[in-house]
Amino acid sequence: MDYPGNIFVVSAPSGAGKSSLVKALLELDSHVRPSISHTTRAPRGQEKHGREYYFISPQEFDAMVQAQAFVEWANVHGNRYGTSKQAIAERVAQGVDVVLEIDFQGAMQIRQAFAQAVLIFILPPSWEELRARLERRGEDPPEVIEMRLKNAAQEMRQVDKFDYVIINELFERALFDLKTIVHAQRLKYAAQLRARAETFKALHII
Ligand code: 5GP
Repeated sequence: MDYPGNIFVVSAPSGAGKSSLVKALLELDSHVRPSISHTTRAPRGQEKHGREYYFISPQEFDAMVQAQAFVEWANVHGNRYGTSKQAIAERVAQGVDVVLEIDFQGAMQIRQAFAQAVLIFILPPSWEELRARLERRGEDPPEVIEMRLKNAAQEMRQVDKFDYVIINELFERALFDLKTIVHAQRLKYAAQLRARAETFKALHII
């Protein structure tokens, strides 16, 4: 499949600071927009249907899988999550770059579907810091934190399959790294050709 902009996939174990980094990127750069996933998990806190996720029932999720409505989907921490073809199509129509905040299983499927996708993995600076962040967040009971840490060990071993690695020790530094990756991607030949075809034509290159 071809996407006429850039596709950024950001994966990380929970607690690595992925959501805050992506949120800050979206605030700084209006040309990058998120893909809104579907999930079977219940909304948390202030989350709104259609903003963070489309919250749907397991039956509705099954129906979408049957209808081949997803580009990718996976089971994460006991719930199902998926990127719909529609979520991607919406961003294509807007002519923007898209960022997918998904787990590593989804990242691998996106790479299969879109060869040009740029895969970014965010690591915490240490195990101690990862644990401390999960505890500080205060969202999860101790047994859930233990499960997230166990999953993190497995997820972090997948880092070698990604194009870029950001170590989130200092937030500002990690955000700078993320912005740099986005910017560098936009300067690649294929991306420039898509974005600046007129200039290439005027220069008689194409
Ligand atoms: P949370 O429930 O904390 O919002 O997300 C849990 C995990 O599911 C995170 O690692 C998140 O990146 C991942 N996730 C969210 N949406 C998708 C999706 O559409 N596909 C896949 N594969 N993973 C997702």
